[in-house]
Amino acid sequence: MTVTALLKKENLMPLLMQLCQQQRLVAPVKNNYGDTLFSVIDDPTAVEIDLINQPQNSIKSFLFPQTETLSHYRLDHNDETGRSGYQFHATLPQVLPTVYFGVRSCDMNAVLYLDKIFNPKAGADPYYQQRRKNATYITLACQSPEANCFCDKTQTGPFMQNGFDLQLTDIGSHYHVTTAQNDCPNGHDFLSQFSISFCSSSAADDTMMQQVNTKAQALLNLAVDVERCVTLLNDSPLPETLLQQLAVRCQGCAGCAFVCPTCSCFTISDQKLSDQHGERVRRWDACTFTGFTKMAGNHNPVDGESQRMTKRFLHKLQHDVALYDQVSCVGCGRCVDMCFGGVDIVRFINGVCAADDEGSTAETVGEGSLGDE
Ligand code: SF4
Ligand code: SF4
Repeated sequence: MTVTALLKKENLMPLLMQLCQQQRLVAPVKNNYGDTLFSVIDDPTAVEIDLINQPQNSIKSFLFPQTETLSHYRLDHNDETGRSGYQFHATLPQVLPTVYFGVRSCDMNAVLYLDKIFNPKAGADPYYQQRRKNATYITLACQSPEANCFCDKTQTGPFMQNGFDLQLTDIGSHYHVTTAQNDCPNGHDFLSQFSISFCSSSAADDTMMQQVNTKAQALLNLAVDVERCVTLLNDSPLPETLLQQLAVRCQGCAGCAFVCPTCSCFTISDQKLSDQHGERVRRWDACTFTGFTKMAGNHNPVDGESQRMTKRFLHKLQHDVALYDQVSCVGCGRCVDMCFGGVDIVRFINGVCAADDEGSTAETVGEGSLGDE
């Protein structure tokens, strides 16, 4: 059952200070360069918690770090057999209970998608699971979407119904607080544990929260028809001209994949630390890197920028629709902000739709003509 409450704004800082003393707190912080990043906070009074601007990173890196040691290995010699062999010992992360505070719906939905990747029925990834399970997720209903956000087109925002522990909505002097619709005990427990910070909400508060939601929906007006693109990708051949136009602009930097809250490709390598021991490390990888699919003998089955870029877009807009019945883009707009070549998922989607409008060749993509730029 959904429970609602109110949190007075003046009670937020004391609550965060209390949380810090008991758990690890992660929230969006504006740094000295003006960048807002999800960061671990030791003292909330010593930092600028920024609930207005979209953080440039998502919480993906806290659940699936950019680099992590999976195991240590040691070369052991067996005197009886005279043989040597490597012994591996898994290094599971020791994670303090964590509160993720101020997570927007796009990023929380990205975590729900990552659950499917790292916790499939076939067997969970223990490294991801260890970080994911020991945490409370306090989301922030998004009232100030950025110009490149389109979570309304991917059904991932700006508000959530399920999949979080508590959702806060700014309704003026208070935050309206709600638990998820499905029966998620964490949110209820949190409200009981910190009951001194909360007071009850009225029907008028609930109505105000709904009005804020409606207003936020109206602010999301980026023109991008995700649904039509998904249908076209299933029914029509890929527009080659569009792919070539985008491919010449992609520099293979992987910025798009690294800022993306749902991109989850990784590579694993062994690092020698001495003649006797070393460690096995997992690092983020990206399908736009030239070496992503390179095999022994230098063969690369996915060669050329056009093929690599297509792989990324089709993974999100076609393959995951077939596998999970959802696109694996949450409309956060970060790749649009990031790519200096203008090769982002919005341009791709609009290009596919434009190609359909114009026939088999797309001369224009989105607002401008890529071919002439
Ligand atoms: S699409 Fe843009 S951000 Fe992504 S790899 Fe290519 S140049 Fe880099
Ligand atoms: S593809 Fe781009 S807009 Fe979609 S979730 Fe990833 S970074 Fe955000």
